[in-house]
Amino acid sequence: RAKCDGAASACFYDARLDEAIRDRREMAADLRLAIAADALEVHYQVQEHVATRAVTGYEALLRWNHPERGAIPPTVFVAVAEEHGLILSLGEWVLRKACAEAASWDNGSKVAVNVSALQLAHAELPRLIHEILMETGLPPKRLEIELTESAIMMDRDRALHVLRQIKALGIGVALDDFGTGYSSLETLRAFPFDKIKLDRLFASEIVESAQATAIIRAVLALGKSLSIPVLAEGIETHEQLAVLLREGCDEAQGYLLGYPEPPRQAEPGRAAA
Ligand code: C2E
Ligand code: MG
Ligand code: MG
Ligand code: MG
Repeated sequence: RAKCDGAASACFYDARLDEAIRDRREMAADLRLAIAADALEVHYQVQEHVATRAVTGYEALLRWNHPERGAIPPTVFVAVAEEHGLILSLGEWVLRKACAEAASWDNGSKVAVNVSALQLAHAELPRLIHEILMETGLPPKRLEIELTESAIMMDRDRALHVLRQIKALGIGVALDDFGTGYSSLETLRAFPFDKIKLDRLFASEIVESAQATAIIRAVLALGKSLSIPVLAEGIETHEQLAVLLREGCDEAQGYLLGYPEPPRQAEPGRAAA
């Protein structure tokens, strides 16, 4: 490293940075192999209707158990995939896997798949999704795409164009982590979302904090007036669920209702995954 002639602290910082970069590059190389070897997994977390407790769907969540490092959180390896040009193949892998597994469920539940900014910016996404649905036989109405507002903000015009094409296939689109990013009302007006997922930050405080409850109430009112159902993420206690019921929240997801779990491969009626 050429620039190690400054203060000792700057030199130390440089070395740490170099190590972090090397570490992520190594992780990216391993991830590339894992995708090719089908060595990742998808876990599924239930989503329920608050008033009836009926299952409305399952969110697909990527899992990677690294042979030496153990379980790496998806927030970490999805970011690595984005930095190292792997997000399109990782995104394709999870879409194909989740659609194939969902197609084999007897209960006919919907599956929600997270899509990242760079996937959305790719013009081929609608065609890829269409192909995967044909290939797996999953009806379009059983697939939902989850997008965050930051994914949309990267290039709003293109995002809107791609989103409309996805919707034209009959697929639902949910706005993920609402309340943490831009949370612009303009996005809700301009984009045809089928669901608002309120970030778990708010759920974690609804029992103790009047402010958090006020925010949930406002988002629910907004959803009602726009005719977009609201799902509260991160519900961990009966008390939180009771507040949602009282406030008229449509759907909920969280550890109280169920942890993300591997598909039950042995169950009769489900094809082996
Ligand atoms: P997300 O899409 O907002 O997913 C919800 C996250 O909250 C999941 O974390 C889930 O396990 C966690 N969670 C659910 N209920 C509770 C709860 O009651 N309490 C708490 N504390 N957490 C709860 P996970 O699986 O670690 O995923 C984190 C993020 O990684 C996801 O956030 C999503 O942004 C990203 N991600 C996961 N799978 C994929 C994928 O297939 N593609 C892309 N692009 N991103 C993914
Ligand atoms: Mg999500
Ligand atoms: Mg979320
Ligand atoms: Mg999140």
